[in-house]
Amino acid sequence: MADCLFCKIVAGEIPAKVVKRTPDALAFRDIDAKAPVHVLVIPTRHIPAVRDAKGQDGERLIGRLLAFAADGLDS
Ligand SMILES: [Zn+2]
Repeated sequence: MADCLFCKIVAGEIPAKVVKRTPDALAFRDIDAKAPVHVLVIPTRHIPAVRDAKGQDGERLIGRLLAFAADGLDS
């Protein structure tokens, strides 16, 4: 989506300190960190809000995002 900050980060149009990336998910350091380690995990496809991740496809994506985060982000 053209005006989405996160999609621009995924596309590399806005620089970010990427921690980890898979085809489904991207983790990057928050530019305004509120803790010593503050990493954002986002899907690589545009999803406006969690409520938009519906059905089996949405459930699979949310599961993959949680597994992505649980697998570790501090590398
Ligand atoms: Zn987006």
